Amino acid sequence: MNYNVNEKGYYGEFGGAYIPEMLYPNVEELRQNYLKIMAEPSFKEEFDQLLKDYVGRPSPLYLAKRLSEKYNTKIYLKREDLNHTGAHKINNTIGQILMAKRLGKTRIIAETGAGQHGVATATVCALMGLECIVYMGEIDIARQAPNVARMKMLGATVVPALSGSRTLKDATNEAIRDWINNPVDTHYIIGSAIGPHPYPDMVTRFQSVISEEIKWQLKEHEGRENPDYVVACIGGGSNAAGTYYHFLHEEDVNIISVEAAGLGIDSGESAATSVLGKEGIIHGCKTLLMQTNDGQITEPYSISAGLDYPGVGPMHSHLSKTGRAQFMSITDADAMKAGLELCKLEGIIPAIETAHALAIFEHKTFKPDDIVVVSLSGRGDKDLNTYIDYFKL
Ligand SMILES: *Cc1c(COP(=O)(O)O)cnc(C)c1O
Repeated sequence: MNYNVNEKGYYGEFGGAYIPEMLYPNVEELRQNYLKIMAEPSFKEEFDQLLKDYVGRPSPLYLAKRLSEKYNTKIYLKREDLNHTGAHKINNTIGQILMAKRLGKTRIIAETGAGQHGVATATVCALMGLECIVYMGEIDIARQAPNVARMKMLGATVVPALSGSRTLKDATNEAIRDWINNPVDTHYIIGSAIGPHPYPDMVTRFQSVISEEIKWQLKEHEGRENPDYVVACIGGGSNAAGTYYHFLHEEDVNIISVEAAGLGIDSGESAATSVLGKEGIIHGCKTLLMQTNDGQITEPYSISAGLDYPGVGPMHSHLSKTGRAQFMSITDADAMKAGLELCKLEGIIPAIETAHALAIFEHKTFKPDDIVVVSLSGRGDKDLNTYIDYFKL
C-alpha cells in the first residue's frame, strides 16, 4: 500500500485538484516546479538555516516522566510548541515563502480562521519583505482580536470576508478569487495539508522535518528510530502529516489520529470528520467532509479553533479508509481536562488542539514498555481566555 501521493495527485481515491479553470495556470505552475525547487541544494540550505536560526529547530523530543508514570507507558512529547510563533505552522510558511520567491512572486495571500496561520504567514512575509494580504471572516476578526493585531504589527493587510457565514470558508473563497485575479505575481500560502494537488504533498514535505527529527532523536534516547505509536491531533492535518511522514511505511509504527468530537459525535456540534464525513470536495480536493444529504457543508464545532474544520486533508482520509491510522474522537471536556493535566504534571501549557491528542491516554491503554510519541503541536498562550472561561480561573 502506498500512503504517499501518486503522480496524479491522489492518496488512494482522495486528493486531486478540483479547481476553477481560471486557477489552473497558477496551480499547474506550482505542480510542475515544487519538487524540482525543493530538491535544489540552495533551497534546502536556506530552508534548513531558517528552521535552525529563526524557528529554533530542532525542537526537543522530551521524555515526559510524570505523565508517563501516570499512564504507565513511555510518553515522549515532540515540542513544536517551542518554535517561533508557538506552533508547527511556521515550518510550512517558511517553506512556502521560499517557494514563492523561487517562483518570482512578490505578493502573498492567505486565508485564516482563528488567525494562527495568518500570523505565521505575516511573520514570514515580514522576514522576506513581501506584501501580505490575509483574508479573514468578519466574525473571526471580531473573535480573534489579538491575532488580528499581531498580523497588523507584522505589516500584513487583513481583509474582512463579508459574505456567507463570514468565517473561514468565506475567507477561503475571497483568497481564491484574489488568486484568480492576480495569477502572475501572487502566491497563495495554504496553511494545512489540504487544498488542490500539489498543496497537501508540499505542506506535508515541509512539515516532515518533524518526523525526520523524531527518528534521530529517538535513536539517541532509546537506541531505536521507530516508536510503537505516533499520535497527533488533526484539523486539516498538517502537524499530523509531518509527524507521520517518515513512519507511514514502517509497519511496526502504529498511527493514532485525534479529531475533535466537540460536544459529542452525535450532538450535532462536532468536527469528527472520519466518523461523520462522506466523500466530497472542499478547498479544491476530494476528501472526507461533513455534509448534509444534499451536499451542503455542515458547520463544524470544536472548542479549539484549529480543529474546527469540516474536513481533513486527503492523506488522512486515505489513512482512515485503509485502516493505517486509528482515529479517535475527543470531546471538549476531555481535551480541556487533559490540557490542564499537562500543566500540573509537566509544567507545559498546551494549545487546546494539542490537548485533544493528550486526552487519548484516558481512553486507550498502552503497554508499560510502549514508546508513544505525541506531537505537541502548539503552546497554550493563545488559548488563555478559553482556559480562563472554562475553568473559571
Ligand atoms: C492550526 C493548529 C492545529 C491544526 O492544524 P493541522 O493542520 O491539523 O496541524 C493543531 N495544533 C495547533 C497548535 C495549531 O495551531
